Formats: sequence, C-alpha cells, structure tokens
Amino acid sequence: MSQTSDLHAPLGILQEVFGYSAFRGEQAAITDHVTAGGDALVLMPTGGGKSLCYQIPAIARHRQGRGVAVVVSPLIALMHDQVGALEEAGVHAAFLNSSLSSEQAQHIEREMMSGRLVMLYAAPERITNTRFLAQLDSLHERGLLSLFAIDEAHCVSQWGHDFREDYLLLNVLHERFAGVPRIALTATADEHTRADILARLQLEDARIFLSSFDRPNIRYAIVEKDNPRGQLLRFIRDEHEGDAGIVYCQSRKKVEETAAWLEGEGIPALPYHAGLDAGVRQRHQDRFLREDGITMVATIAFGMGIDKPDVRFVAHLDLPKNIESYYQETGRGGRDGAPADAWMTYGLADVVNQRRMIDESPAGEEFKRVQRGKLDALLALSEAHDCRRVRLLAYFNENAPPCRPYQNLCDNCLHPPATWDATEAARKALSCIYRFHQNGGQRFGAGHLLDVLRGKRTDKVTQYGHEALSTFGIGADLSEQQWRSVLRQLVALGHVVSEGEYNTLALSDSARAVLKGQVQLLLRVPAEAPKKGRSSKSG
Ligand code: ADP
Ligand code: ZN
Repeated sequence: MSQTSDLHAPLGILQEVFGYSAFRGEQAAITDHVTAGGDALVLMPTGGGKSLCYQIPAIARHRQGRGVAVVVSPLIALMHDQVGALEEAGVHAAFLNSSLSSEQAQHIEREMMSGRLVMLYAAPERITNTRFLAQLDSLHERGLLSLFAIDEAHCVSQWGHDFREDYLLLNVLHERFAGVPRIALTATADEHTRADILARLQLEDARIFLSSFDRPNIRYAIVEKDNPRGQLLRFIRDEHEGDAGIVYCQSRKKVEETAAWLEGEGIPALPYHAGLDAGVRQRHQDRFLREDGITMVATIAFGMGIDKPDVRFVAHLDLPKNIESYYQETGRGGRDGAPADAWMTYGLADVVNQRRMIDESPAGEEFKRVQRGKLDALLALSEAHDCRRVRLLAYFNENAPPCRPYQNLCDNCLHPPATWDATEAARKALSCIYRFHQNGGQRFGAGHLLDVLRGKRTDKVTQYGHEALSTFGIGADLSEQQWRSVLRQLVALGHVVSEGEYNTLALSDSARAVLKGQVQLLLRVPAEAPKKGRSSKSG
C-alpha cells in the first residue's frame, strides 16, 4: 500500500490531519460508509466524537476531487470554533452567517464555487434560501458537491427540546441533490425523535449507527428535596471543593439568588441566564472555561456547545423537562473521561411545576400528551429504587447492566434503598382529600393535608373543624417525610392533581382504583434526613 492512498482513507486522515491514533467506537464504520457515498444517521452521546464522522468523509471526498461538503449547524458559536480548529489543522473550511461582512461572504462564496473549499458551515435558513440553493445546483451539476452533514438533527423533531422550523426545509436536499450522500447526527436517541429525523429528512434508506449512550464515568444520584440549598452546599463541600461544576435552576431569579448565596458561602460561583447582558454572559462563560473551580449557576440557556472537558459535577436544583434534557445536561460533566457527578434534588413542587408548565403551554393536545409521557418517564427515573443507569439507558432503548463494581456506582447501586408498601397510606391520603371535599367542598394544599393526616391541631385545622373528620390523625404512624413521598408519588402518577395559585389538591379519575386498593404503591424508604435546617423548606 502506498502512502498516498493511505492519506485518502479515513484512518490515514484521522492520523495525518487530526493527530489521533485510532477511531473511537462506531467512527471507523461511519466514516467508511459515508466516504463511500452512503447516507447515515448517527446517534452518539455528547462528547462521543460526532464531528469527525462527517469531517473525515468530507476531507476524503474532497481529496477524491468531489468538491465541497456542506455542514448544517444551528449554532453560530460552534461553527466558529469548528472552522477555526479545521483551518488550524490545515483543512480549508469556512462558515457563512450574518456575522460576516459582504466582502468576506463574497470571498467565501468564490472559494466554494471553485470547489477549493473542503467544508462550508451554514445555518439551515441560509442553506434553504433560493439564491444559495441555486449555487448548490451549479456545484452539483459540476460534480463538486461532496456531501451534506446535518448536525443537531433532532432540531427537525417537534417532540424534541429544540425544534427549529428551518430544519423541516432540509428535505429539499434529498429531492434536489440526488446522489449526494447525507449524514445526520444527533445526541438525542429516543424513539420518537429518531423516527422524526428519518421521516422528515427522508433518510429512510440511511444506515443507522447507534452508539451506546452509557457514560460510565458519570455517577448518578437523585436525592429527595429537603432544604435544597443546604443539600447543594454540603454536596459541593463534601465532594467537589475547588472543582468546576454547573448548577441548573429553572428560573433566572433563582439562578441569581443561588449564585450569590454560594459566593457568600465561599464557593466561587457565577450566574448565567438569557436575561443577563450579552457582555456579562460572555465574561462569565470565559471565566468558567478559563479559570479553575468555578461553579456556573445557570438556566438551560447555558450549555449547548460549551466544551469544557473537566466539569466535575452537574447539579439540578429543579427537575428538568424530560429525560433527554436530563441526559444532555448531565452529559456536560466528565467529558474528559474522569469521574463526574450528576446530582439532583427533587420534590413535590418540581412535579407540580413541570405538570403545570405543560398544562399551561399554548401547544396542542397531542403535543401535551407526548410531553406528559416524557415527564412521567423522568419522574419514574427520579422515584426509582433500582439502578438509575439502567433506567436512563432503557429510555434510550438500550439494555444496560446495572452499574458494575468497577464503574461509578449510582446512588441506588451504592446504597440500595429499602422499600415499603405505601398502598394503605395512599388510600388514607386520598380519602382525606375526599373528605375535605365532602365537608364544605373546599380544597387544601399539601401542608394542611399532612397536618390533618398526622393529627396536628393547627389553627387552620380548628378553623375548618377538621379534627372532626374521620381521617384526622389516621396517619400519625408515618413521618412527615414519608407522607411527602406518598403525596409526591400520587401526584407523579396522576392520581392527585395540584391546581390553582395555592396548589390545592384534588382527586383525579384514576384515584378511584387506588382507593379501592387495586393499585399497589411501592416507595423507597426516605434516607435519614439530616437534622439541620429541615423545617418548612421541603417541597
Ligand atoms: P460530540 O460532537 O459528539 O459531542 P466532538 O466531536 O466534539 O463530540 O468530540 C468530542 C471530543 O473527542 C473532541 O475533543 C474530539 O477531538 C475528541 N475525539 C473525537 N474522536 C476522537 C478519537 N478517535 N480519538 C481521540 N479523540 C477524539
Ligand atoms: Zn446503578
């Protein structure tokens, strides 16, 4: 074999251009397939090495005289980084986006039309505009359109977390440029999204390359919410003093408050959310990337396209939207392969909030139904008493063994939780809600319900005469924490709905089966709660 032919082959390019010695996982098969002109759908977790899957075929095909590869990417920042790195490695690449002057754009178009360019990155709305399509026609006619790579392909799916209208127009590529191979890539692997990508991009004939989504170096833990700030602080102090990490919160306000509070406790922390000035956001992001040991407290606005290898923990103070989001966000930890923690606190209020956000969204019923299903899957993961990793991967249709001894054990594998049969307790809680309703038709929130069940004579109990209810004190045998867990389950399972400004509780139709004892409820025994600061903040 001559050396020149090696340099046209994927492995030769990997070594010569990128300086890596071997392919990872499916990369070898993917680059062979696409270089040979095949279509592909690549499902690979974040950090798995998706970029090389299209960059190497693009280089190989350019060396075969096949011209320019067009890379569709939704993120300007990412285009910028990738093009910079490619040019650094001696690969002629460029991007077209609104940040360029018209002279710059014209220069890049000339490079493209001559076929000299190896890779052109652009956003979907540019690729599907008439003028650009005409340019691609010209390249295509001259045999100088080498391939299309569609990055973040899940954006085509409206079930996903970042649907983009413009991605739908990309089906034009298949119709208009026959014979040009297409490779779609994503880190989202649930069934719905996968089917959507195949159908909408007309990739039915593509070969599917599914990598394992297991991140063996990530340790998963989901703890019951009980003074969440204190729990977070203890977690950081005990396990991550001086480490870089990300703390996700749902609201901007909470981001700012939490960051300020951590700072006050001596943990270097910065806030990040879309409401901050662009300059401030950039500064905070730069510091997080450059300095050691910064905790970024952020909304989900932070993360996409951030490639910091040594993030040692990702904490969630609020429940994410669904398992895909949880997986994406926790996946930002441990990209360097060293151990990282995915840690989350979770409580009744999270369930209520997420349910309400779906209910109140302007979306159609079908969409809401899917979103509820996705939330339920996440709730099941949160309440699970068996291996989190198994649950997580099962969601992506992957049949994984529980955390093995030489891996980083999830919380449930490390300390298998005891379970108790909460069926009776659930019936008591439901009948108590039922009694409230009978007794004056009023609705009450979780706190009052627990007081009545546990037989506490509070002012409110006396005011409503609730000590006279047959359910008063029938739950004195259980702790407040156990009751919260029961109630959370009942809401998570949809037997109880929490409504209105005051989160009052009502029975749903499905509660009947529980009341009749037809549904068994097996719950984890709550971990022994720390004494300090566990008064009224649980939720
Ligand atoms: P993804 O897009 O899937 O999140 P990237 O393409 O950004 O992942 O790759 C993640 C990291 O892994 C990058 O730093 C990349 O250079 C590195 N990488 C990818 N493939 C290999 C390989 N075969 N050998 C060594 N490093 C690799
Ligand atoms: Zn496990």
